Amino acid sequence: MPMPAPPPQTADMLLLDRDLDLDADLDPALHPELYPRLHPTATPPRPHPPASPRPVEAQRGGVRVRPPRPATAASAHVTLGRVAVARRALTTWRRPPLRLPRRTLALLLLGGLGAGAAAVVWLWWRDTPAGALGGLGAELTAAGRVTGLLGGYLLLVQVALMARIPWLERRIGSDWLAATHRAFGEYLVCILVAHAALIVAGYAARGHVGLVPETVRVVLEEPDVLMATAGLALLIGVGVLSARAVRRRLAYETWYYLHLYAYLAVLLAFAHQLAVGAQFTGNRAARVAWTGAHLAVAACLLVFRVVGPLRLGLRHRLRVAAVRREAAGVVSVYITGRDLASLRAEAGQFFRWRFLTAGRWWQAHPFSLSTAPNGRFLRLTVRAAGDHSRGLGRLRPGVRVLAEGPYGAFTATLRRRRRVLLLAGGVGVAPLRALLETLPAGPGEVDLIYRASTPQDVVFPHELDGIARARGAAVHYMLGPRGGHQLAAGRLRSLVPDVRWRDVFVCGPPGMVEMARRELRRAGVPRRHIHAERFDL
Ligand SMILES: Cc1cc2nc3c(=O)[nH]c(=O)nc-3n(C[C@H](O)[C@H](O)[C@H](O)COP(=O)(O)OP(=O)(O)OC[C@H]3O[C@@H](n4cnc5c(N)ncnc54)[C@H](O)[C@@H]3O)c2cc1C
Repeated sequence: MPMPAPPPQTADMLLLDRDLDLDADLDPALHPELYPRLHPTATPPRPHPPASPRPVEAQRGGVRVRPPRPATAASAHVTLGRVAVARRALTTWRRPPLRLPRRTLALLLLGGLGAGAAAVVWLWWRDTPAGALGGLGAELTAAGRVTGLLGGYLLLVQVALMARIPWLERRIGSDWLAATHRAFGEYLVCILVAHAALIVAGYAARGHVGLVPETVRVVLEEPDVLMATAGLALLIGVGVLSARAVRRRLAYETWYYLHLYAYLAVLLAFAHQLAVGAQFTGNRAARVAWTGAHLAVAACLLVFRVVGPLRLGLRHRLRVAAVRREAAGVVSVYITGRDLASLRAEAGQFFRWRFLTAGRWWQAHPFSLSTAPNGRFLRLTVRAAGDHSRGLGRLRPGVRVLAEGPYGAFTATLRRRRRVLLLAGGVGVAPLRALLETLPAGPGEVDLIYRASTPQDVVFPHELDGIARARGAAVHYMLGPRGGHQLAAGRLRSLVPDVRWRDVFVCGPPGMVEMARRELRRAGVPRRHIHAERFDL
């Protein structure tokens, strides 16, 4: 089958080639099917420009820049020493000090949230006098109160889970937080509807009136209930829009911006609780604690979702440096800025990127770093999935960027075993390429299996092969149409016979990740050694 020519590169796209050392050749002996695509005609490598003489002392942006000291025998020795240390760090893996696994932390967090819920029930119990539960009306009203308290608490938890609290995002992972938020959302709407229904039914039973007139009376005459009803209607609307069948039909941004009405619902619910909540009106300590919890979550939102990204933008002044086509429908965006080392990003993590151009500034999309952070530039590699990602190939150098992050727990810290398998599906190779570059490992300790439909879909094979060759790792390209048995347990075992003794990092689209998990389990890899990142929150 004739291989297509590599995508043309513009001057901008090639801007960073020298820094990146992308001239590493693909090994034709290893991957005959991919080689012609990258080398249709033999072109001599671009010569690096000659080193320009350094000024004795330069004035840069008003700041004096001291020129580097000339190399002496002593400084050359120090440099060589550093290289030796860096190489040792990259080739020698030591079991890290014991850290609680993600799953344990998630369970602890759930335990903490459960304890919070128990405290809320205790508050209700303490303020429900003995004998107050006599009669159906009183029982229904009491049940309505406790569901109201639990609903208010769960609403607060929902907001906290999405407040992008860095420790939670990096140690437990954004994917778990988003999945838990989604699961809690279903309970939340049920609990709040139950609260409204029980309160009205309780009042109706006590007053011996019908449900409909009592509903009208409660909504229109009880103080602050109209406001709370509006909040409940908003939450039900958000819940309906988030149901899988409805959400699939909506553009992500439409769903996202409508979802923000939930914040208005939280405000309305909070005011309603303080105004009429029996547990708060007569109990100052409970009122202070409840208000304090709401203020703490509001502060997290403000600090981590608003101030943090703005601070990061002002401090690092990120800009697009170049855009490079990697394959059909896939581009890499290179981003430079000030003091990038202090971002403290790790290979495997992602940022939410906001490109400040006319049509894009209002959207932030998550994309993983596709090179290990190096202090000089950040790179994301994007497959055209929809309007936004398709347009990124048209970004011009100089465009300002706001980034939120780094996020994600899909990093080398999850590793517990010496040998590692990286398993990529499609553009899921992006964070795995960064991990391949940085995982401390000796020769033969890391394998990358890269699943793609056709050779044209393979992204940066020359980089992967270059890194693998330098590190003594192996890259297996697994090409073929989707839905086949490429990832079957037997196939995985035949490519990587010791797979069951390895940590496995899987990344790709949701369907591929689920299939890979299943097949890895069948191949004997324990659940706790499978670490996955789905390109879907
Ligand atoms: C943690 C993480 C890391 C990712 N890393 C990469 C990467 O390195 N390379 C890459 O090509 N893709 C990556 N993705 C996927 C990428 O974010 C989506 O493909 C992209 O946002 C699609 O936007 P769109 O408008 O082009 O397409 P749309 O057609 O609007 O969206 C396609 C799907 O992408 C998801 N999506 C859209 N917008 C957002 C958003 N703002 N936030 C979260 N999800 C959204 C939705 O599930 C939607 O169904 C990653 C996703 C996640 C969650």
